Amino acid sequence: MLPNYLRILLTPIAMLSRRKLIQRLSAMPLLGGVLGSVTPFESALAAPAATRNLLKELGLRTFINAAGTYTAMTGSLMHDEVMEAIQAASKEFVMLDDVQTKVGEKIAALTHAESAVVTAGCFSAMTLGLAGVLTGMDQKKVEQLPHLAGTGMKSEVIAQKGHNVGYNHALTNTGCKIVEVETVEDVEKAINEKTAMLWFLHIQSDKGKIMHEQWVALGKKHNIPTMIDIAADVPPVENLWKFNDMGFDLVCVSGGKAMRGPQSAGLLMGKKKYIDAARLSMPPRGSTIGRGMKVNKEEILGMYVALEKFVNQDHQKEWKMWEDRAAHIADTITKVNGVTVTTEAPPLGNHTPTLRIAWDPAKVSLTTKALQDNLRNGNPSIEVVGAPNGISITTWMLKPGQEKIVASRLKEEFTKASV
Ligand SMILES: *Cc1c(COP(=O)(O)O)cnc(C)c1O
Repeated sequence: MLPNYLRILLTPIAMLSRRKLIQRLSAMPLLGGVLGSVTPFESALAAPAATRNLLKELGLRTFINAAGTYTAMTGSLMHDEVMEAIQAASKEFVMLDDVQTKVGEKIAALTHAESAVVTAGCFSAMTLGLAGVLTGMDQKKVEQLPHLAGTGMKSEVIAQKGHNVGYNHALTNTGCKIVEVETVEDVEKAINEKTAMLWFLHIQSDKGKIMHEQWVALGKKHNIPTMIDIAADVPPVENLWKFNDMGFDLVCVSGGKAMRGPQSAGLLMGKKKYIDAARLSMPPRGSTIGRGMKVNKEEILGMYVALEKFVNQDHQKEWKMWEDRAAHIADTITKVNGVTVTTEAPPLGNHTPTLRIAWDPAKVSLTTKALQDNLRNGNPSIEVVGAPNGISITTWMLKPGQEKIVASRLKEEFTKASV
């Protein structure tokens, strides 16, 4: 009689179900010792059947995203082409710097920039871009960041008061402080030998007195580089090159919002001398403030594919699809007496058809929080955004057909609460 382990080896693999084989292999603790390793068998059979559902296994709630590209909701869903690039890249070694250089050239060409690099999101693009401005190609300075005192590096960034919504922490990470201004005269007064950069936040541009062109002109007049944060400002797709064309020295954008690249990726675009310098603070180089802002080759390539797809896609068709979904939801829920909907796209940031849904409390007895809870706890779970006197919804992160579920669940909740 053959020992068990030999019997298994002599049984043609095709004759054993994968489950049985793994069961039997794992029931033999000595097998590894006898054969050296079982992994070639295991992996050859396990790979094609890799249907493990980790979200289920870990009890993670999945939901229909009728809210939008929120960081806390994991941003957006990557296209299959992006995942294919990630998968394929994961099979080979290449030099990290070479990937950045080659991909950077392609991205720069797509965005009318002199140069570009993939960063760990828009936030790190800002930190690294400013690091490049501060250090130039001086290796010693790179290692001194974020301690600026006594180094000869500049230490102030000028920004408009209305643009201070928290993201400028990306800039103070370099050791710089923010000098807040409101008017052109303020800027002229604030500029001194310590001024490193003028920073602009597109999504808040209506909250400041100085607009884009004027900001760029101030930078040029005083020979101080300018940077713009357009993290959540595509679409329109033209924004990817508009601010490079306008003359901003550095442009920062998120990769994992509307572009549907990896959530932890973003782009730093702009003047080659600043991008080259920013890369001195990026991995693989250590002893830098950016060592923890690593982007792997898979994400760099995935980001490139996502950008390329975004630039080449039919944006009008996409917009029409978002509008049709929004119209379906609006038509369905306004059948409930007292429910009103207005749909418009915010001009700045998250530029996509957005439904503002409100209801007359005399006709529908429901708080915003109760509605959000009911949608969240329902099946399937749905996320929407709480707004003053109602909720707001976008349709761009829905999978095809989900607008029907969102519409009927909303109608159901409003009908239940009708008085
Ligand atoms: C999302 C966002 C950021 C941060 O971008 P990440 O890609 O998540 O790093 C910065 N600024 C603004 C205005 C944003 O909306």
